[in-house]
Amino acid sequence: MLYALAFFLLWTAAAWGAEPLPIVTTSTDLKALVEVVGGERVRVESLAPPLQDPHAVEVKPGQLAKLKAAALLLRIGLDHEPWLGRALRTIGDSRFTRESPHYLDTSKRIQLLQSETPRVRADKGAHIHGFGNTHYWLDPENGRPITAAILGALLRLAPADRPYFEANRKRFLDRLDGRLRGWLRTMAPYKSTRVVAVHETWPYFAQRFGLMIVAVMEPNPGVPPSPSYLASLIQKMRDSGIRLLIADPYSNASAVRQVATQSGATAVTLIPSVGGDPAASDYLSLFDFNIKRLSQAARPAR
Ligand SMILES: [Zn+2]
Repeated sequence: MLYALAFFLLWTAAAWGAEPLPIVTTSTDLKALVEVVGGERVRVESLAPPLQDPHAVEVKPGQLAKLKAAALLLRIGLDHEPWLGRALRTIGDSRFTRESPHYLDTSKRIQLLQSETPRVRADKGAHIHGFGNTHYWLDPENGRPITAAILGALLRLAPADRPYFEANRKRFLDRLDGRLRGWLRTMAPYKSTRVVAVHETWPYFAQRFGLMIVAVMEPNPGVPPSPSYLASLIQKMRDSGIRLLIADPYSNASAVRQVATQSGATAVTLIPSVGGDPAASDYLSLFDFNIKRLSQAARPAR
């Protein structure tokens, strides 16, 4: 009888221990990266879908329930998710705060760009990159510090799985190194190509691959540009021969078309988040996809 009880207790402990950790992320990119490290030990839900403006997300009731049940919340941080505070207030869960093992803001170890750019706050709760640019996952080198932070967070929750998590991350970084060499080779002919972007989504990507973003259609992030600003931008693009306009999937399509047509530039829509295209199904293929699309649209710099 005692044997049976001991066996039962051991069995339930093992079964409980083997349950994947329920994790919620604010983006599909963080979801992809926590899955890379956590493997079958995590079950992850992203609050934002891949093709939507990441700064304007409506959290659904089913997602709030998942947030409440999550062992870990991962976020991009800074003012990237102005909608997250309200979701956290709604569930009234005090675990998701700084210094908690249930909360990870992956911006902490990132060398931020544009942190000195002064921004005018348009309205409360706007995403204005007020503390620096938040689209840092689009430099593939940042896959390194982000997964380091994720590894630390997973080890706090499941220390016994250290060898598994560490091996997963190492395998990912080896693949990342190999792919990055290929991406840099593909992009080499386009080094110093001057481009215009719609939103400030691409500065990390541009810095890594040698593109020069000389202007944006949305000088105040999250605020639609005025017609007079667009007119002067179009003139500037024609005068200085800028041939490429980088849009996001959620950009205003008619404004993009107008600027492209009137300036003579080619508009190319890049995918900022994992899952935004079937071919961009994980963190590495996100870059495969964008590098391919960009190199097809751009002309080699002379
Ligand atoms: Zn942004």
